Amino acid sequence: MSGNWDVIVIGAGSAGLPLAIRAAERGARVLQLEADYRVGGTLYWSSGQIAAAGTRLQQQHGIDDSPDEHYRDAQRIAHGRIDPTVLRLTVDNAAGTIDWLMDLGFKPAPGTPVAGEAHEAYSTRRYLWGANKGISILETLKPAHDRLVQAGRIDLRLQHRFTTLVTDARGAVTGVRATTPNGEVEFAGKNVVLASGGYAANPTLWKALTPRVPLCSHANPYSRGDGLQAARQLGAVVDGSEKFLCTFAGFLEKADDPRSGNFLALSPGARKVWEIFVNSAGRRFMQEDHPSIDYRERSLLQQKGMQMFAILDHGILQNAASMTLDAPADYKARFGRHPCFVKAKTLSELAKKLDLPAANLRRTVADYNRAVEAGVDRKWGKQFLIRRIEQGPFYGIRAQGITVLSPAGLKVDRELRVIGGNGRPIPNLYAAGEVLGFGRTSGDAFVGGLSLTPALAFGKILGERLLSW
Ligand SMILES: Cc1cc2nc3c(=O)[nH]c(=O)nc-3n(C[C@H](O)[C@H](O)[C@H](O)COP(=O)(O)OP(=O)(O)OC[C@H]3O[C@@H](n4cnc5c(N)ncnc54)[C@H](O)[C@@H]3O)c2cc1C
Repeated sequence: MSGNWDVIVIGAGSAGLPLAIRAAERGARVLQLEADYRVGGTLYWSSGQIAAAGTRLQQQHGIDDSPDEHYRDAQRIAHGRIDPTVLRLTVDNAAGTIDWLMDLGFKPAPGTPVAGEAHEAYSTRRYLWGANKGISILETLKPAHDRLVQAGRIDLRLQHRFTTLVTDARGAVTGVRATTPNGEVEFAGKNVVLASGGYAANPTLWKALTPRVPLCSHANPYSRGDGLQAARQLGAVVDGSEKFLCTFAGFLEKADDPRSGNFLALSPGARKVWEIFVNSAGRRFMQEDHPSIDYRERSLLQQKGMQMFAILDHGILQNAASMTLDAPADYKARFGRHPCFVKAKTLSELAKKLDLPAANLRRTVADYNRAVEAGVDRKWGKQFLIRRIEQGPFYGIRAQGITVLSPAGLKVDRELRVIGGNGRPIPNLYAAGEVLGFGRTSGDAFVGGLSLTPALAFGKILGERLLSW
């Protein structure tokens, strides 16, 4: 076993980077293990949207806001389902974290902060991001981290995959084991922080922890839940899997790989919704162009297998904007070639290819066409009724709720100590970031910034306080 580190940080992503920086700046001996060949973690994937009340940026814009208001607003959007201790810690430390990022050179995108974007709106303008999404945050943190690594104040070991927590006879954590390209290694340390991210890229663990939700994930491939599994082996409490909400909506690039989820561009804010959505019974189930993303996500969540089918015809394919992020020509070329992009001469044939009851689909389309003619969709209230679905060939996209975040995670106290099965903290073991579970930091709703902001803030405060707690 090598070293006797003050802090062993598992992961160098959104939580691990600020943690290592702040701990090293305070003179702690920091060892950081990262499974990937680079630092950054989910920041390469993330939209990088963060939120805080009481920032200098808000003050410059004359926005009056407070952590208490942020707390109330977040619980309002999340229907009161965010862990109160964790939310309190988030709102009380978010502004200091964003001010610190700005001291390090972070530049908020023009026009930010806003009240809402992509998720349900806050009551005031506290939501922001950088021009280059998550990478803007990485580009802010990495120079400071690099300097400390080069100065020998952070011992960063890339391609070191942590596997196990080492404990003493009384169950206190005293070190970790990891696998490396050169075999297994063991390190001793006074404190271990799990900042190893979520488990949305581990289909087996997903099934074990979140069995009712089919996985179609778009996540960092290193989000394998290693930290969760190791802490569970010590009896740590893992909960929150029921607080799942899907992202609306996506499809599997590869039918046999649940980690190959990709987004469809369906937001009525970004694109007019010409098509209709039906469920596996061939029936509409929502207002397709409803302005609330929360409404759209929850409508899809309730459908069998979290599945839906976008139905359109030749005229719509020619006139409407692309439903994928591909160039329009590539998007059209997918139909008939990709298992999720189906093309048929008739509606009945389309139903057969999509495994939908043909009579129901024909009836649904006929009802919709009558609504278009009447200019009013009495049943579902769709607003954009520009064109009937009537001209073959007909097209369908097999879509489903997509996962970017894992809901279940480690229970922690207000000092971010991991709670064991006896209800008491496991000595010397801490956690920060998505390993706490999205359900704990954001409830069962997408509250703007409430995954990335706590990851950054909790990493920062652990780096600042770990040795004094
Ligand atoms: C597409 C997408 C968009 C998102 N957009 C937003 C957003 O706008 N706002 C928001 O609040 N949230 C957003 N999120 C979520 C948010 O970005 C993440 O929850 C957050 O970045 C997680 O931070 P983390 O430090 O816990 O994990 P990560 O940033 O993933 O860091 C974990 C690190 O640990 C490493 N690691 C894993 N296992 C091991 C191991 N065994 N040993 C050593 N190292 C290991 C990983 O390689 C990784 O570098 C988004 C997520 C996705 C996927």
